[in-house]
Amino acid sequence: MLDVAIIGGGPAGLTAGLYTTRGGAKEVVMFERGMPGGQITGSSEIENYPGVKEVLSGFDFMQPWQEQCFRFGLKSMQKDVMRISRLKNYFVIHTDKETFEAKSVIVATGGSPKRSGVKGEDQFYGRGISTCATCDGFFYKGEEVAVLGGGDTAIEEALFLSELCKKVTVLHRRDEFRAAPVTLQKAKAKANIEFLTPVLLDEILGDAKGVNGILYKYKDSQEQQKLEVNGLFIFVGYSVNNQILKQEDGSFLCEMTDAGEVKVDLNMNTNVPGLFAAGDIRIQAAKQVVCAAGDGARAALSALAYLEHHM
Ligand code: FAD
Ligand code: NAP
Repeated sequence: MLDVAIIGGGPAGLTAGLYTTRGGAKEVVMFERGMPGGQITGSSEIENYPGVKEVLSGFDFMQPWQEQCFRFGLKSMQKDVMRISRLKNYFVIHTDKETFEAKSVIVATGGSPKRSGVKGEDQFYGRGISTCATCDGFFYKGEEVAVLGGGDTAIEEALFLSELCKKVTVLHRRDEFRAAPVTLQKAKAKANIEFLTPVLLDEILGDAKGVNGILYKYKDSQEQQKLEVNGLFIFVGYSVNNQILKQEDGSFLCEMTDAGEVKVDLNMNTNVPGLFAAGDIRIQAAKQVVCAAGDGARAALSALAYLEHHM
């Protein structure tokens, strides 16, 4: 039986792995469905992690985290976890093919990009519609692209795209932006970024080759306008990845908010003994790498205390 199962290999999961193994837990496995690193690996840059002066891509930034954890004995398994259930005083981790037993579990499954629900989105997803400028921006080098959204992700990624593309048109449904003022200021200073607000995206157009345009209108007008672009980057927020906590009867293993976040106390304890949550999945998460890492460390310390006193 594992001492600690960590689900998710983003900043929260990796930090939990570092602190549990370095703190003496023997059998610690981190289950990650893809490559470790988490959401930030899809970002073109990170410049707000304390102590790291260079501006690095999210991918480069996360590389040393894995190496550091594995040095202290963290094991990683590339598995998609389907569900976690509780039996007596231990947990069962259900993956697509196997099950694993663990004395304690740290859930660090983070979030995923939301869909906008605009007509044509499902049809052209991956064929001109992207949620990752770092991954797909290069395909539109020298071309005109559009960005939907007004949060930090949309504006940061518009800035990234403006270095590659001829023109970037940002469409946002309000005149006010959620993005940090400093980021917005940078984007507004770019000659090849145009802002269209407040506008609603009506439809994504395309053919067999993929996207070839979008239809939008200003909020106070009914007149539809067309923008000819082959690439649309959608950044309209994230949903938390809480599916693994859903039980067969549809209830959740632990207490959740209406928005689907895990309720934890300041020590990352859920209401179920031995079950902890860390990072973007938890209530009131600041959704920052530094905070996710802090949560991971706190959850690990709580898991170590739980193993010592209850198992
Ligand atoms: P995540 O990073 O989401 O990691 C969760 C991991 O769990 C993922 O690797 C996922 O594959 C895995 N997983 C999920 N479900 C399962 C499952 N069922 N089985 C197995 N594995 C699973 N923050 C900053 O501080 N600075 C920035 O500059 C910054 N830029 C950002 C740019 C972008 C484009 C985005 C999207 C976010 C940015 N953020 C930034 C926010 C930051 O990335 C997140 O707050 C942080 O990554 C959260 O870490 P986490 O470990 O909680 O979750
Ligand atoms: P976000 O802050 O929730 O912003 C989503 C944006 O999309 C909002 O502007 C929203 O408009 C718009 N939107 C939502 N649904 C829409 C729809 N159906 N159609 C059109 N527009 C829609 O999401 P995010 O930008 O991905 O950021 C997520 C979190 O990560 C935030 O907490 C953010 O601060 C953090 N983050 C931080 C950094 C950084 O610190 N450098 C970088 C990236 C992300 P409204 O504003 O009108 O609701």
